This record gives sequence, structure tokens and C-alpha cells, in this order.
Amino acid sequence: MAARTLRIGLIPGDGIGKEVIPAGRRILEALPASLGLKFEFVDLKAGFETFEQTGAALPDETVAILKNECDGALFGAVSSPSTAVKGYSSPIVALRKKLDLYANVRPVKSVLTAANPIDMVIVRENTEDLYVKEEKTYDTPEGKVAEAIKRISQRASSRIATIAGEIALRRQKIREAGSPSIHKGPLVTITHKSNVLSQTDGLFRSTAREALANPRFKSVAVEEQIVDSMVYKLFRQPEAYDVIVAPNLYGDILSDGAAALVGSLGLVPSANVGEGFAIGEPCHGSAPDIMGQGISNPIATLRSAALMLEFLNEEAAAAKIYAAVDANLEEGKLLSPDLGGTTKTEDVVQDILRRL
Ligand code: ATP
Ligand code: MG
Repeated sequence: MAARTLRIGLIPGDGIGKEVIPAGRRILEALPASLGLKFEFVDLKAGFETFEQTGAALPDETVAILKNECDGALFGAVSSPSTAVKGYSSPIVALRKKLDLYANVRPVKSVLTAANPIDMVIVRENTEDLYVKEEKTYDTPEGKVAEAIKRISQRASSRIATIAGEIALRRQKIREAGSPSIHKGPLVTITHKSNVLSQTDGLFRSTAREALANPRFKSVAVEEQIVDSMVYKLFRQPEAYDVIVAPNLYGDILSDGAAALVGSLGLVPSANVGEGFAIGEPCHGSAPDIMGQGISNPIATLRSAALMLEFLNEEAAAAKIYAAVDANLEEGKLLSPDLGGTTKTEDVVQDILRRL
């Protein structure tokens, strides 16, 4: 079999991004040769430190190389200054726009032997809703009033529901290939608040329904749930969810809530996905409080590398990384301090590489 070469941009960014992204590179390099995958890596700059050095948080060169030369990327973290700094804005937000990475995908998984096991993916629409940031404030005789636009389009709702359906099918394939799971079949839960917002969330709901009614999703069960009751059930009965698809704001809130259920931000990966391109990104930030001590948990990044591979259609390689990470967690002997252990980043990485 001819080897496929994937060119991956590495953007460590700030803080512990610099500690965990090298681990992501190593796990990709350590994948067995039998998978027929080769990697080329390109080191790229972005972040607050880059801003201080060059005046740009996201240099044009980084965007151009990602666009023109890379198949995917791993992004570490960027520190957000506590007070607004003139000219600085988040490079990952800018990247999502420039590369049209319309889906934010967050798998949240606990060890499956937990009392309330969790194995879900939240698929968050990433381009519209209240995040179009069209706000205004005006004066009235009773005082100031502020308004924000919540924009929902058929196009964005349809493509996010479609990718959620595809993710549900792929998760089922990975299960059928032998990956243990708490779910029997693929399920997508559409979440919204169309009982109150009948036009905006109503459009999201009906469009998502329609997209998921496509015959290629006939094996996928589709249900819907109002977002507030969903939060309740998410905390009481998280095992009920497989794939959740949500507009931007609800997706943002649900994904942080779900991450809290598994105990540490250091475990939770994400991917920013567009047409034929994916950036893996741990959900945590730059964690300045633990930077430089060699104790950051690399698992969110290792899982993000696997998630990126899923979107590059390399499911077998992704499954190997997931299995190695899960085995480390199930054994529970070599855990980083955020999980209650005493193991250093390097030794967690070594253990997972050995299991690979
Ligand atoms: P930022 O402004 O970059 O988001 P932050 O101060 O909000 O930084 P986060 O990275 O969001 O920090 O982390 C929140 C908490 O979780 C911190 O106490 C941090 O140490 C911890 N944490 C985050 N990621 C990890 C990790 N990979 N390993 C261990 N602990 C982590
Ligand atoms: Mg943070």
C-alpha cells in the first residue's frame, strides 16, 4: 500500500501549549507503520507571545501555509490578556473565520466503568448565532438599552446537522471495529429553544431535522431536546447522549458543562472543522498557573490529534490513539496531578506511547 503523507501545521501558541503540542507530534510519529501514514510537520507561529514579538497574533504567513500547504493542524493554546490589549484579538477565532472552520467538535468521554459513564460529542455551529457580534446600545427615556443580533441561517444549520450525522455514523463504525462503548446505535440529539424563539431556533430545528432525514442517515436515530431541560439531563443522565448538535451559544455552554463532568479540562479535546481541513485543539487554555513545571496533562492534545485524524478520514489511526489513552486512564496508575496523580507530562506521554 502506498503511504499517505499528511502535512500537519504545529501551532503551540502560549503557556502549556508549548508543552503539550510536542506530545501531539510524538504520538502521530509513533503510529505503527502498518497504517501506511507518514507525517511532515511545519512549525507555525500564533498567540500572544507572537503578538508581542511581531505585532500580529496570527501572522499572514501562518494562515497562508495552513491554507496552501497543510492537510490539518494542531493548535495548543493562547493566553488571553486579562485586560484588553490594543490590536490583540484571539488568533483561533480569526483562524476559524479565515479557513471557514464552521464546526467545533468536542468529544467528552469518561472511563466507561464510571457510575454515570459519558461518551458523547458536542457539535457546535461556529459561525453565527449571537456570535455574529452585531450589538448596539442606545438611549431611551427609561435609560440605556442594548441589543444583539441572533442570526441563524438555513445553510449553516444544514451543514452543521449534516456533519453531526456523519460523526454519528463514524462513531458507530469505530464501535463496530471493536472500540468499547456505552451506546448501541448512532443517535443525534438536536438542541434548541424553539418553544420561545420560534423563528431563529425554529429554523435551526426544522433545517437540522430535514438534513438528518437524508437517506444516508437512515441508521441514525434523531431526537430533539429543549436546551434547558437538556442541561438537567446532561448532568443527571449523561450516558443518554451520543452526538449533540447545537447552535453556537448553546453549544458553547453545553460543551463547557459536559467537560466539567469528566473531571479535568486536561482530558477534553476539540476540533475545528471545515471542508477538507481540521485543526485539533485541546479545550484548555494556556494554564499559566502550571506552566513550566512539566505537569500539564497531555491527554487533551493527544485526543485532539486523533480527532483531527478522524476528519482526515484516518479512523484506524485515530482509534489506536484513543485506545492507548483509554488504557492509560483505565489503569489509572500514571495520572497527571489534575487527575489526582503525581506523574509528570513526560511520563504520561511515555506510558501512552508504549501502549500504542
Ligand atoms: P487562559 O486564559 O489561557 O484560558 P486560564 O487561566 O483560563 O488560561 P485554563 O488553561 O483555561 O487557564 O485552565 C483552567 C484551570 O485548569 C487552570 O487551573 C489550569 O491549571 C487547569 N488546566 C488546564 N489545562 C490543563 C492541563 N492540560 N493539565 C493540567 N491542568 C490543566
Ligand atoms: Mg481559560
